[in-house]
Amino acid sequence: MKRNFILVIALIFLQGYNTVPDFWKSVPASVVNPARSISAPIFAPVPTSTFVIPPPAPAFIITSTSVPTNTPTPTVELNPSGVERVLIISFDGMRPDAIKAAEMTNLLKLIESSAYTFSARTITYPTTLPGHTSMLSGMCMDKHGMRWNANNLYRGYAKGTGIFDLTHAADMKSVMLVGKEKLRLIAEPDTTNDFEVFGTEALIAKAAIEIIPTDFDLMFLHFPTSDFRGHKYGWMSNSQFTALRESDDALRQVLAALDENGMRDSTLVIVTADHGGHDRTHDGTRVEDYLIPWIISGPGIIPQQLTDSVRTMDTAATAAYALGLPIPPEWDGIPVYEAFGTPAQDVHYSSGTCE
Ligand SMILES: [Zn+2]
Repeated sequence: MKRNFILVIALIFLQGYNTVPDFWKSVPASVVNPARSISAPIFAPVPTSTFVIPPPAPAFIITSTSVPTNTPTPTVELNPSGVERVLIISFDGMRPDAIKAAEMTNLLKLIESSAYTFSARTITYPTTLPGHTSMLSGMCMDKHGMRWNANNLYRGYAKGTGIFDLTHAADMKSVMLVGKEKLRLIAEPDTTNDFEVFGTEALIAKAAIEIIPTDFDLMFLHFPTSDFRGHKYGWMSNSQFTALRESDDALRQVLAALDENGMRDSTLVIVTADHGGHDRTHDGTRVEDYLIPWIISGPGIIPQQLTDSVRTMDTAATAAYALGLPIPPEWDGIPVYEAFGTPAQDVHYSSGTCE
């Protein structure tokens, strides 16, 4: 026991800040989940060019008599926050006020144990592809460049480093199960381990339930039908409410699968939407087109109604934070620290405007 303790203390002195590779130095401490940052190369080889001769070890290390014999060996807690994976579910076109109006009982139950806001905002162009790209890239539209809401593959994929680029670089397993083919443009194919398109929430849930037992690091589910019904029958119509209840049942099935596989307590779940809507459109002429729900539950989350402003880019930032991934400095999104009971480290400088 004594010998181990001495070795650990000696290692701590040998590993100064200068031994941390530049990549990790560039990441502000505030954006790295201390839980996962432990996996940063603390024990990486010491670059000879930056090696600093450590100061002489304090005497107490040498004279072990000063170390109580019952001192436990320090242990490194790899993941005190308990987040092992992140699940993001987007209900396409779901207005915050539709959740209660449609009687989405499963989502309402989830909210009871969540940090949430019904006044989060999407981008200035409140549409499916640009909105989801901001949600998952952490950037406003002027940076990710996805300015069209159509499957224009010839125009290329979203620019910049999105959340799936981060998970791919970290060799994490990511999954996208979506209801619209155009969402492929959010992330290049080689950055996701699994990308599939289905016509209904039930099929998306079924595919998710098949994947869950094999585990994942980041899963994105997109439920499309409430948007389809909104365009056809109107936002807040009974037909859209029916679609939302069907999506709500898909949510129940996915959460149940996490429960059955013993994964629920270690999964951070974010439920949100890409935009709202009114009449039969979401053309950006009403505030209802911009307001989206933002609901987060899981390890480390303090159930509460959030008071900080939340924007859709914060979804990617919060997921990266929870997974211990470095947040690119160009991102507009900020982790929703308030949900974790942590004071805000940064604020949005604009009052919701995001091109
Ligand atoms: Zn949409």
